Amino acid sequence: MDFEYIKNFIKEAGLPNFRIAQVREAVFNKGISSWQEASSLPAALRDQLDSEYPILSFKVSKIVCSQQDKVAKALLTLKDGLQIETVLLKPQDSWSVCVSSQVGCALHCSFCSTGKMGFKRDLTAEEIADQVLFWFQYIRKEKLGERISSVVFMGMGEPLLNYVNVLKAARALSNPDYLNIGARHISISTSGIADKLHKLAVDLPQANLAISLHNADNAERSKMMPVNRKFDLDDLKKALEEYIAMTGRQVFLEYSVIENINSRPEHIRKLADWIYSIKDNYLLHVNLIACNLGRGEKTEDRIVKDFAAGLKGMGIGVTIRKSMGNDILAACGQLASQKK
Ligand code: SF4
Repeated sequence: MDFEYIKNFIKEAGLPNFRIAQVREAVFNKGISSWQEASSLPAALRDQLDSEYPILSFKVSKIVCSQQDKVAKALLTLKDGLQIETVLLKPQDSWSVCVSSQVGCALHCSFCSTGKMGFKRDLTAEEIADQVLFWFQYIRKEKLGERISSVVFMGMGEPLLNYVNVLKAARALSNPDYLNIGARHISISTSGIADKLHKLAVDLPQANLAISLHNADNAERSKMMPVNRKFDLDDLKKALEEYIAMTGRQVFLEYSVIENINSRPEHIRKLADWIYSIKDNYLLHVNLIACNLGRGEKTEDRIVKDFAAGLKGMGIGVTIRKSMGNDILAACGQLASQKK
């Protein structure tokens, strides 16, 4: 919902200002999913909002819940009929939402289902922020919790290639008048669009940055992630050094371990060498994840553990992240607009 738009509508309609506060309370505190639930508003206003300004900018076509993790995935149909997916997850004790920023993706990473769809279009800021609003409504309605605590831009699309709308959505989400999700609880994950990191450090210095690295060998990374041909590891290194100097923030390097592709001892060594070549590398932290290989399959845990032990042995900070929602194709790299 474009709250600014609704505020203007209320002002231009000559309605009292307290109606704005009532709308805010109903949508962002109570989590109503239909204007008819906003009992503090007069019936005529509810009807008008219902017909002219739907709360969400898309229809929810399907929701599937994981049997093994606290994860749910929704298929959303946008106004132009295109579809995206968004994920709700509870990795620890609070709810997080993984949002999509584009319909499809132009970057064709070899391990990613979204990349296989190709690029359709950028999402608007409203379509991005509404994914979080939708899950907020969902947890309130299902009595699963009171609030969404964090947002990760790790769904479909490359967020830094839809920079303006991602920035607008992130700012709206952290606005105290909206869902009030602190910027430190918003994470942007990029495949390494190096020329946008300076701008990101200026515009969103409090947000968390994650780089999908997956390989520290240029030739191999280019095969896995063709974007590496445009911004290689050297470009990424320089951009990261500047980003860290500007923000002083820790940066996460995401590494999806795939047996025999990027899991061997030489990959560990190259990753450690690349990290050590970066200034202020104590602020870099590696997140390892077992790559999702297909429907329900993933890299064996022992391979990921060996990789982590190798990095630790070289003095690199590393955490093994649990891949969640594998059974409903909601884990990293699995989102696409397919119906399951
Ligand atoms: S991993 Fe991210 S950047 Fe790569 S194709 Fe998938 S959505 Fe695009």
